[in-house]
Amino acid sequence: STQIHLASRPTGWPTPENFRTVRVDLPDLTPGQVRVANTFVSVDPYMRGRMNDVKSYVPPFAVGEAMTGGAVGEVVASTAESLPVGTTVLHQQGWRDVAQGDAAGFTAVTPVPGVADSAFLGVLGMTGLTAWVGLTTIASLRPGDTVFVSGAAGAVGSAVGQIARLLGAKRVIGSAGSAEKVRLLTERYGFDAAFNYQDAPVREQLPTHAPDGIDVYFDNVGGDHLEAALDVLNRDGRVALCGAISQYNTTEKTPGPDNMANLVKQGLTLRGFTVGFHLDQAGEYREKMGPWLRDGDVVTDETVIDGIDRAVDGFLAMMRGENVGKMVIRTR
Ligand code: NDP
Repeated sequence: STQIHLASRPTGWPTPENFRTVRVDLPDLTPGQVRVANTFVSVDPYMRGRMNDVKSYVPPFAVGEAMTGGAVGEVVASTAESLPVGTTVLHQQGWRDVAQGDAAGFTAVTPVPGVADSAFLGVLGMTGLTAWVGLTTIASLRPGDTVFVSGAAGAVGSAVGQIARLLGAKRVIGSAGSAEKVRLLTERYGFDAAFNYQDAPVREQLPTHAPDGIDVYFDNVGGDHLEAALDVLNRDGRVALCGAISQYNTTEKTPGPDNMANLVKQGLTLRGFTVGFHLDQAGEYREKMGPWLRDGDVVTDETVIDGIDRAVDGFLAMMRGENVGKMVIRTR
């Protein structure tokens, strides 16, 4: 079998020297095992993270060992009743042409007539599911929403655009990195609008394609794209943070937080709010806080500046941090 091993950990963009092609003789099958001739192995952005020596939702690749990842193939030898020769299986022993191991590590799939088995790694597999979950569970897509997706011509993005339309989005906008991809977005994938983020800053281009703002941003890119989306998100807008590929190979600080990927890894939710949208809760709050203050369950401090003529001083002092608790100006 031919396997791709990680030879060393890349810094910034990986180079061929970081990998090694290795031929190995596979042992005979023991009872309950299968040997699989892979038909397709997946390469995915998350694998870049696995090349680093950092803990993530999947452990790092080991230096000197075959890398792993999604793959689909056909059982060519079997000592497992459940997976006879000829079965098409999905599994995680990618980056090699022949995989083998206990049957439990392999899942039988039913090929779809007219659809290549590679679809189990894409639209019928991990990336398609990512699009679905991101739109429905994470972004709570609603009919009539305007949706913007970055990385729109990629595996996840192209599914996002089309699923969004099928679920009733009013307008779907995509960005990608070439004129050819942009053409595909509108002519093949049914996007209403698309632009090439290489042509001009996203911040300049997105508003022209989203005259009424956007309701959902499906973020595959992070950085400048996320920043631009935040500019045009409408009230109650929702962002599904799916990836931040603009940062995966960077060694320098990129625009915005450089650790947005933690939102992905930890399944974090960042949801903005403005208190003005929640004034209906004011009465209930006061009923709670009044007794707490009265009984000393809550203590509070103020910094008081005397005189309306010192109001600006007070304001600036507060901005400099010279207050403890609430800064107030006493005017009489
Ligand atoms: P894609 O098929 O979209 O391939 C990656 C694409 O990223 C490239 O085609 C390229 O397209 C684009 N790209 C690369 N560098 C940049 C950059 N600096 N700025 C903007 N775009 C860039 O990959 P996937 O569909 O598999 O993954 C898309 C995103 O989804 C990734 O961020 C990935 O990590 C994430 N993901 C997250 C999952 C999750 O569970 N949260 C699961 C699966 C994927 P272009 O020519 O347009 O630049």
